[in-house]
Amino acid sequence: MIYEIPDGVCMTEGLRLAKLVVYGCQMNERDSETIAGYLGKAGYALTEDERGADLVLYLTCCVRGNAEDRALGNLGQAKRLKKARPGLKVGICGCMAQEGWVREALGGRLSWIDLAFGTHNIHRLPELLARLDSGERVVEVWDFPQEVVEDLPVLRKDPLKAFVNITYGCDNFCTYCIVPYVRGRERSRGVKEIEAECVEAAGSGVKDITLLGQNVNAYGKGLAPADGLERPDFPYLLGVLDEALPEGIRLRFTTSHPRFVDDRMIEAVASLKKVCEQYHLPVQAGSDKVLGMMNRGYTASGYLAMLDRVRKAVPGCAVTSDIMVGFPGETEEDFLDTLAVVEEARFDAAFTFVYSPRKGTAAEAMPGQVPEEEKKDRIKRLIDLQNRISLSVNRGLVGKVEEVMAEGPSEKDPGMWSGRTRTNKMVHWPETGVAPGRLVRVRIERARTFVLHGTREDRT
Ligand code: SF4
Repeated sequence: MIYEIPDGVCMTEGLRLAKLVVYGCQMNERDSETIAGYLGKAGYALTEDERGADLVLYLTCCVRGNAEDRALGNLGQAKRLKKARPGLKVGICGCMAQEGWVREALGGRLSWIDLAFGTHNIHRLPELLARLDSGERVVEVWDFPQEVVEDLPVLRKDPLKAFVNITYGCDNFCTYCIVPYVRGRERSRGVKEIEAECVEAAGSGVKDITLLGQNVNAYGKGLAPADGLERPDFPYLLGVLDEALPEGIRLRFTTSHPRFVDDRMIEAVASLKKVCEQYHLPVQAGSDKVLGMMNRGYTASGYLAMLDRVRKAVPGCAVTSDIMVGFPGETEEDFLDTLAVVEEARFDAAFTFVYSPRKGTAAEAMPGQVPEEEKKDRIKRLIDLQNRISLSVNRGLVGKVEEVMAEGPSEKDPGMWSGRTRTNKMVHWPETGVAPGRLVRVRIERARTFVLHGTREDRT
């Protein structure tokens, strides 16, 4: 993991080292780039090796139990390291730090941790680091977010790609989800601020921009009227960015909520040149009973009808999804409904999860918790089905010529170059030395479940 050292960071002797351990979703990935920016300004360079670090900071996730378990396991190792090297500072931030039981534990079994802050006050990091430097133990976790803070530093992990937040938090309160409790209620950034960040990114060499939010297509809540619109909405924002960004930039967005996919959005994605033909639309389940208990706000047939409209408007667009098994009360019949929807939806790929009870969520207290054995059996059957579909969808691209943005050598074979299509599919082809960010044309000759192989079509 290489972060570019930003301007204004002193590379002189005495630069301290920080290890930033990141768990979870793209929101955390984006937050890690802000935190890395602040660490750089505070005189830290980033290291992969905690043994030489002055500070080890865990940017945590609590969307599922296993993410928490991993962080707690690593914290245990850090505690031992700190015992051996008392000068080492250890910090925790991110969604787990927002949880009530962690905040309590910071006063008890986690009281050895030197620094703790949450998801609502990342912008306070310069002051928190200064207080840490003064020898203070710093625990500052806000209950609620305040106004949307702009001009956050960013140290991008990938010089070609940028994540740009457009909304924070979520108002949907799906019954299994902890996000609204740890990331707060939904708030949108201003159009001008998002446009400025995207244009700056493009100016710094970024070619692929992903607009980020828990529900990007609910964008605009709380914003003032704009251009005759009661409030700027997601299609409006896409239009502004499509116009403002230079040719050759690819615009993506995640995550969309199926209940907010409307004709204006479908039309915008279909007609705006820089907006890639790709949707991430979590369906979560296929049984209307389970969807109702999840508070998802749509039915299986409603979801499939929306998908049909999306695909009619953008033939060949890629659709990925999130699917959960083992939600409380889910019967074998309900699970078969999920398999039936997956069969019909033919997603390009899907993130599949086993339901994990989250403290404080409505589903945690629901009856009919599904035994672990059944959850394991269902997730295996779901993954088998989805992999078959992903392979079949990819085989449908054999013989086609795709526009691919070159990224670099394939990780497995240096003689092969790799890049992504507009539909975000990974492609490998036999060539070397293609400039990262360059758009090339590749004829697809072979398909596998998660990658395509081909030959350069436009080599001069
Ligand atoms: S939409 Fe539902 S699942 Fe997604 S972040 Fe919001 S509450 Fe969680």
